[in-house]
Amino acid sequence: MTLIDFHTHNPKAEKNVFHVTNFDYFKAPSLSKPKGSYTIGLHPWWIEKAGSNWPEELIKIYSDFYCVGIGEIGLDRKCMVDFEKQKKVFAIQLEIAKKLKSPFIVIHCVRAYNDIIEHLKESSFEGNIVFHDFAGNEEELKALMKFRCFFSLGWRLYKSEKVQEMIKKIPVGKLFLETDDQLDYSIFEIYHRASELLNIEQEKLAKELVQNYEILCQ
Ligand SMILES: [Zn+2]
Repeated sequence: MTLIDFHTHNPKAEKNVFHVTNFDYFKAPSLSKPKGSYTIGLHPWWIEKAGSNWPEELIKIYSDFYCVGIGEIGLDRKCMVDFEKQKKVFAIQLEIAKKLKSPFIVIHCVRAYNDIIEHLKESSFEGNIVFHDFAGNEEELKALMKFRCFFSLGWRLYKSEKVQEMIKKIPVGKLFLETDDQLDYSIFEIYHRASELLNIEQEKLAKELVQNYEILCQ
């Protein structure tokens, strides 16, 4: 049984776990490239830290064989970076993802689902879209299901009643699980919790999510 940790900042040496690491290059360019598969993107939090040539840097890193997608990118109404600037940077990255034919992008979204939907409508990006740490409501889920969206959940499965209910509304064929940047819950615990909430055997759930990843990368 292979478990996919769809979005992590701290990949551990874990047996039978396939990690998709978020390479935090624009936060700390001194970081060395992760082992295994990873994604690259300019996160809204680090916009001020990235030099003016960040689009070229991003494209260069993306050309690496182990770079599987663009992310995390997105919009965050809770962070200090000017929102208009965030929108500009997000639009540029959608454009880059389209040009590079990235099979998927990973989205960071805080209280900005409608803005993201507006961007998706305007963009002609044709790949898949994964909302990591999805915390939207049912209406937002419905609106996003009109696009090629997937939803990744993690630690909130233990902490938020809203997310515990949300996982039951997301079709299993649109689901991923992740550890993100926290260290309190391992990917094993998160799969355990998800299978409990969904009332699906862990092995079956794991197989479904492997299939989802294959579809995502097509
Ligand atoms: Zn993250």
